[in-house]
Amino acid sequence: MLDLAIIGGGPAGLTAGLYATRGGLKNVTMFEMGMPGGQITGSSEIENYPGQGEIMSGMDLMANWPEQAMKFGLKHEMNQVSNVVKEGDIFKVTTADGNIQEAKTVLLATGSVPRRAGFKGENEFFGRGISTCATCDGFFYKGKEVAVIGGGDSAIEEAVYLSKICSKVYLVHRRDTYRAAPSTIEHMKACENIEEVTNVMVEEVYGDAMGVTGLKVKNRETEEIRDLPVPGVFVFVGRDVLNEPIKQEDGSFLCDVNEQGEVIVDLKMKTSTPGLYAAGDVRIDAAKQVVCAAGDGATAAVNIIEYIG
Ligand code: NAP
Repeated sequence: MLDLAIIGGGPAGLTAGLYATRGGLKNVTMFEMGMPGGQITGSSEIENYPGQGEIMSGMDLMANWPEQAMKFGLKHEMNQVSNVVKEGDIFKVTTADGNIQEAKTVLLATGSVPRRAGFKGENEFFGRGISTCATCDGFFYKGKEVAVIGGGDSAIEEAVYLSKICSKVYLVHRRDTYRAAPSTIEHMKACENIEEVTNVMVEEVYGDAMGVTGLKVKNRETEEIRDLPVPGVFVFVGRDVLNEPIKQEDGSFLCDVNEQGEVIVDLKMKTSTPGLYAAGDVRIDAAKQVVCAAGDGATAAVNIIEYIG
């Protein structure tokens, strides 16, 4: 039986694994279907991780985390957790291959996935000109024009990143003020090849058998339609939490969640179900920062060690 099953291998899961094993728990498995590192590995530029003064990619920031976390006995199982139930005091963790493992405690550190904006053509052209990862796909548009949709930190940061690869970036936002941090907006405004297209709704992304060839946006006041003939569209309109593993057969959740499906935790990262903890972006009020997710992971692990006794 596992002392702790960690679901997710991002900053929260890795840090929890490090603290749990170094703190004496013997059987700790981190389930992560991909390479450990988490969603941050898709970010092109990080400049706010304390102690790392240089701007670096998410991939570089996370490079040494898995090795450090595994040094004290954390095991990585490259598998997707499809479901967690609790029977008596024991959790049963089912993976995509149908295997079931028992655990005394579970930490949900699944994070979130990019949200779809809901415009015409989004699903049809997803992966064929529409992307949610500038680091992964930006290079395909070297020297070409692209559009970025959104007005938060992700959209503005990735627009700046793409402006260094692409000939021009249209920053398409539905309002004329941004949610992003002032310093990030300042960086963006200093980029000569970023054109802000604000106060517009995306009407449609269109294309042909080869992929995207452009998008149409509609001004919210004048209703004027503008055509942006670009082969690449990057969508950064927020994220949805990944709470699938704790969904139960009857549609309820294994613990309390809020209206957005975010897991409700206390200051110990404890959920309403004894032995079940949550950390990082999947929890309520997450600041959605690597440093906070890592802090959550450490907090959860310290309290899990105490819970197991
Ligand atoms: P976000 O802050 O929620 O911003 C989403 C943006 O997309 C908003 O500007 C929103 O417009 C727009 N939007 C939402 N739905 C839309 C739709 N259907 N069609 C068109 N536009 C739509 O999301 P995020 O940028 O992914 O950031 C998520 C969290 O991570 C935030 O807390 C952010 O601060 C944090 N983050 C931090 C950093 C950093 O510190 N370096 C980097 C990335 C992300 P409205 O503004 O009109 O609502």
